[in-house]
Amino acid sequence: MSKYIFITGGVVSSLGKGIAAASIGKLLEARGLKTAIIKCDPYLNVDPGTMNPYQHGEVYVTDDGAETDLDLGHYERFTHTRLSMDSSITAGKVYYSVITKERRGDYLGKTVQIIPHITDEIKERIKKVARANDVDVTIVEIGGTVGDIESLPFLEAIRQLRWELGESYALNIHVTLLPYIKSAGEQKTKPTQHSVGRLREIGIIPQILMCRTERPITQEQREKIALFCNVDVEAVIEAPDVKHIYEVPWVFKKEGLDDLILKKLNIKLPDRGIKAWEDGVLKRLRSPAREVKIAVVGKYITLQDAYKSIYEALAHGGIANNARVNIVKIDSEEVEAHGLKKYLKDAQGLLIPGGFGSRGVEGKIAAVKFARENNIPFFGICLGMQISTIEFARNVAGLKGANSTEFDKETPNPVISLIEEQKEVKDMGASMRLGAFNCVLDKGSKSFEAYKSEKISERHRHRYEFNNAYRQQLTSKGLSIAGLNPDRDLVEIIEIKDHPWFVGCQFHPEFKSKPDSAHPLFKGFIAAALDHGA
Ligand code: GLN
Repeated sequence: MSKYIFITGGVVSSLGKGIAAASIGKLLEARGLKTAIIKCDPYLNVDPGTMNPYQHGEVYVTDDGAETDLDLGHYERFTHTRLSMDSSITAGKVYYSVITKERRGDYLGKTVQIIPHITDEIKERIKKVARANDVDVTIVEIGGTVGDIESLPFLEAIRQLRWELGESYALNIHVTLLPYIKSAGEQKTKPTQHSVGRLREIGIIPQILMCRTERPITQEQREKIALFCNVDVEAVIEAPDVKHIYEVPWVFKKEGLDDLILKKLNIKLPDRGIKAWEDGVLKRLRSPAREVKIAVVGKYITLQDAYKSIYEALAHGGIANNARVNIVKIDSEEVEAHGLKKYLKDAQGLLIPGGFGSRGVEGKIAAVKFARENNIPFFGICLGMQISTIEFARNVAGLKGANSTEFDKETPNPVISLIEEQKEVKDMGASMRLGAFNCVLDKGSKSFEAYKSEKISERHRHRYEFNNAYRQQLTSKGLSIAGLNPDRDLVEIIEIKDHPWFVGCQFHPEFKSKPDSAHPLFKGFIAAALDHGA
């Protein structure tokens, strides 16, 4: 039977609970435990797929096509746990299924209430993941901040679960903040005390506190926090700001967090360390042999979280090439307004990520043109691939006004257009071409050189496609089709032969990249960019 770790957050949001959860997963895996990770999100959207990136940041996609919170991306990057639709539990999903059951008459005339019906639904969904994966420890992160009205049913559900399972089967970890007050020259513990007090009011007593802090915590402070928050002194864990998120498991290990968790869950296993992570990831992050400058041109550049997996995958490509990747973030509308040279002249590679809607598109097209004409390695992802197809069609193949029907319904040359099935779609939620699909690579392509394998599978999230009616016209001018979906004959990858490294893919390779095993296309892209600067 699986044991559980419930992670809550207090004081403020953005404390990095997701990275903490992922790091705990990493440390437990290193001890030989099989883990599953679940993210509970208290919002009423069924999934974040319909939310604006400004509201939510990146939408992370799983193999089975779930559109999920970006924290699930951290889980996959740090651990080997397999995520699925069930790994993300939103209040929207929970209420939707309870109300559907009510309408069906499943509750046999009872009054349907938050307790027990909503809480039971939450508990059942959590237990289902643990059962399905046959894991030793299930880590459950509760989104939001303790004290929010919305997260109460989730907190009540985990309170009940621990009570039902017993102490050595479930553990509550609370992530909190010790703000530093400059004028007083002190780190304050009061907000933490209040936040833990808030949890106690609803019957949850955390056994471990992870204190986010800019400065080291003194022994005296540890003792004070322990006394007022009812935890052991050794269970006050310092969680300092770190230069790179991949340092976090290492920092927690130094604090003895994995030993502590194992002790509390009554699990005995030898410590084999995390040497592979230290040597393979941290050493190269801390002192890489080289540096490389990559420009990312996108619409949501000002928002840190909008292209999370892209930035991480670029860093992984850097690790694989023993190089630090310096990312220059460029707003595509700025490019439209101020021209390109200013931004792109010393970039060694250009990446255009996914996106929706016409804002900033012409700026991106201009950026692709610049990279193509100046032999700068180019990597287009999803919308980035579609943009590079449009650019090639207009400026190389001479197809006037070529465009995607997403941006111009009347374009004379719709080189990117809706796939048949998408023409029928009415609902916006979960209705794109989503999740893993197969792709077969052309053996002469840069992509094949990167993957070293003919058959690949990658994750998708899009409605529009390369229009096969234009295949001949574009390939006759030097565009090559490097990857095809074998079942539907859909273009998955385009390349330009006569260019050092020009790859556009319809899928999202960034979702499958890890710090200790960079995605082949990111590794190849960074290698080409390093050559470009050499
Ligand atoms: N807007 C494009 C489409 O729907 C690209 C989507 C994306 O980049 N994720 O096909």
